[in-house]
Amino acid sequence: MTRTGIGYDSHRLAEGETLIVGGVRIEHDRGTVAHSDGDVLTHALIDALLGAAGLGDIGLHFPDTDAKFAGADSLDLLREAVATAAGAGWVPVYADMTVICERPKLGPHRDVMAAALGEALGAPVNVKFTTGEGIGFVGREEGIAAMAIVTVHEG
Ligand code: MG
Repeated sequence: MTRTGIGYDSHRLAEGETLIVGGVRIEHDRGTVAHSDGDVLTHALIDALLGAAGLGDIGLHFPDTDAKFAGADSLDLLREAVATAAGAGWVPVYADMTVICERPKLGPHRDVMAAALGEALGAPVNVKFTTGEGIGFVGREEGIAAMAIVTVHEG
């Protein structure tokens, strides 16, 4: 038995904030405004995994109203979600993701992001990047977004 799940996340960008994408801290003049570390890519991946496992969504498991998740390392949340999915009988086998970000160029960080996410997920991952082509909230550099799809099998 194989299942798939999708995930999407976005965060607002603001000056003076930290930018973390796929577990990697990126030097930039803006960062994400968030309760946790604001890692959109890891959040999309967590939602895709929880979706594949039929376990609801990230807000159900890691509510942003809970003080214990303030500044949380999203890779730790991903590891916890992997354990929760495994407890429900679902093991990730592959993930594909796209980050939608106008600036900075994230391509140079692809391999280190894939390594960090793959280690935490326990499965191979593919990370892709695109821009907003100057339009919409991404194009205006007001925010950053990510999409993910995860395949799991019965473990
Ligand atoms: Mg998020």
